[in-house]
Order: sequence, then structure tokens, then C-alpha cells
Amino acid sequence: MIHLTGPVLARLDESGEVEVRDGAWVLDGRVTFDRPTSTDGAEELDGWVLPGLVDAHCHVGLGPAGPVDADTARRQAETDRDAGALLLRDAGSPADTRWMDDDDAMPRVLRAGRHVARSRRYLRGVGDEVEPEDLVAAVSAQARAGDGWVKVVGDWIDRSTGDLAPCWPVEELTRAVGAAHALGARVAVHTFSEQTLPDLLAAGVDCWEHATGLDGETAAAAAAAGVAITPTLVNTARFLDFAAAGTPKFPAYAAHMRALHARRPQAVRDAVDAGVRLLVGTDAGTEMPHGLVADEVAALVQAGLAPLQALSAATWGSRAYLGAAALEEGAPADLLVLPADPREDVDVLRAPRAVVLRGRTVRP
Ligand SMILES: [Zn+2]
Repeated sequence: MIHLTGPVLARLDESGEVEVRDGAWVLDGRVTFDRPTSTDGAEELDGWVLPGLVDAHCHVGLGPAGPVDADTARRQAETDRDAGALLLRDAGSPADTRWMDDDDAMPRVLRAGRHVARSRRYLRGVGDEVEPEDLVAAVSAQARAGDGWVKVVGDWIDRSTGDLAPCWPVEELTRAVGAAHALGARVAVHTFSEQTLPDLLAAGVDCWEHATGLDGETAAAAAAAGVAITPTLVNTARFLDFAAAGTPKFPAYAAHMRALHARRPQAVRDAVDAGVRLLVGTDAGTEMPHGLVADEVAALVQAGLAPLQALSAATWGSRAYLGAAALEEGAPADLLVLPADPREDVDVLRAPRAVVLRGRTVRP
């Protein structure tokens, strides 16, 4: 049993205000606001209590050179967990990480199966690479394999034109999204380019990943369509590196990546101003290290989000979007204990006093 003695930032109410409770208990892995009849031997944790953070775009079991072994995947997940990310939406991995679901020490993982990518238009050895005529079948297969999500690579460099370009004809993409929805899965699409966004809207894609091509117009359309966006700012900060690597052979691509890099904070502000739902995601896996969830929250604030908006994108809002509980009565006790109010300064997320997963203190 745990007694949480500080203020609990439990959930958002209908008007978008944080409901603050005065302490709580953790009993049998769940949160309760009712004092148990016997509190003998309860562990006391003092501080501000926040639902466990969400990393809505990361890759477990994926390293710079493709799939990694189970020990490495475990260390990745532990790194995320110890940073406070207790719910991960895995945005595509070629490794089988199902075993994590039976291990109580592992964060909760919602998988998108394996990336579905256009042939030779993605990182080698990572995705299921297909041509447009096979997109529906590939997306359907991953919808069956995942946990309610499918990940499609929507644009990538086209070496024949030397710039970013959409990977799919809109008709095929529309059919594929329809197939995923019919199987009960939502579709998240990797997109960097402005040019791809109208197709994603037309096809009914649920969630745009990175979405650096966003402007006021596409943001308004995304908001109206209920599209969510995961900016992954800690990752798109690397666009200048991608540009430098592409400069000798693909100058148009390099210039495009530099322009997208420069517009990143504005793209996030356009999304916020339009009322788009934002999700915190780090893109950990491949080149990006795990455990950067607090950095992404800080980056969103730096780009112009209010601290409460950035916090919601990492907790209450993204949990609701992904179908996970916040800290309601009876909710699974996945939570952080923080030294100060994170609404005042999101940097306190970097140093939780305690991380509690499934009712157990995993990091004192
Ligand atoms: Zn990714």
C-alpha cells in the first residue's frame, strides 16, 4: 500500500481545468481516494502526483541497425519507464516485444506492428516495404498484428526527383485507412512534407507524426477532422543533420529540410492555435535515445505551448486519446511523484521523486 500525501493532479474536467485531489492511496495496484480501513505499513510518498507520462511515438526493439535483441529492448523500455514514460505507443517496430506484456516491470506498450513503407523509401530493414497495389493487404496485416494502431510512412525522399514526396497515391491510401478502421485500428502516418498533408486529410488518417509541413490552413483542416499530431520536436531538431547529409547529391531535399527545420516552432503554434490535439512523442529508437520524454515536453513549451497544454499532451490528453485512464478512482496506479507543481515548471518532470507502475515503486 502507498499513501500519496501531496496534491494529486488527477484528471481534466469538462472545462479543461485540472481536478486537484488532496492525497490518494494505492491499493492492489489501483488508485483510490477513499482512506482504506487499515493503513498499517503504508509507504508514504510526498509530492505532486501526476499520471504516468505517455511517449506516443517511440520504437521499442529498434536500434540504429534494425531490430535489437530482447535484452536491449528491455533496457530501452526501462529507460523510458525510469524517465516517467509509463505508457508507450510504439510507432512501428520489426521486433516482437509481446513478451513485455507479461512482465510487470515493463511500461505498458500499444503497438502499431511493423512500419508499412514504400519499397526503397524508408530506413533499410525496418519496414514492411510494399508497392501501392499491396498497401491495403500490408496495412490490414499490421492492423491485425498491433494493438489498435498501424504506422504508415507517408512521405520520404524520392531519389528520382531529389526531394521529399508522398509515397502513396491517395486512392490506395484511402482504401488502406478504410481497411484499418474496419479492423478496429487507427492509422498514424509519418510525414515531413507540406505536400502530403492534403492526401492524409482526404484519406482519413487519424494521427500525423512529425507533421513539420503544417501551416495555419492544414492545421485548421486537421483540427476540424479530429486529427491528432505528434510533433517529436527532439527528433525533428536533427533536420539540419539530414540536410547536411543530403546536400551533395540532393540539394533540393537539403534546402527543403532546412526550411522545414526553421518552421518547426511555428508549425507547432499553428497546430495549437487551430485547436489540434497534440501528443508528446520522442521517436526513441533508431538513432534517437530513449528516456527523452521530459525533453519533448520542455521543447513543446519552448515552441509556444502553455505548460498545461504540454503537460496534457504528455498525460491526461494523450491518455484519453489512447484509451488509457488518468488518475480517476480505481484507475491503474501508474503515476509520478514530483518535487513541485509541474504546471509551474515542466522541468520538474526531469527528476521525479518516485515512479510508480502498476502500484509498485519502480524508481524511488
Ligand atoms: Zn518514428
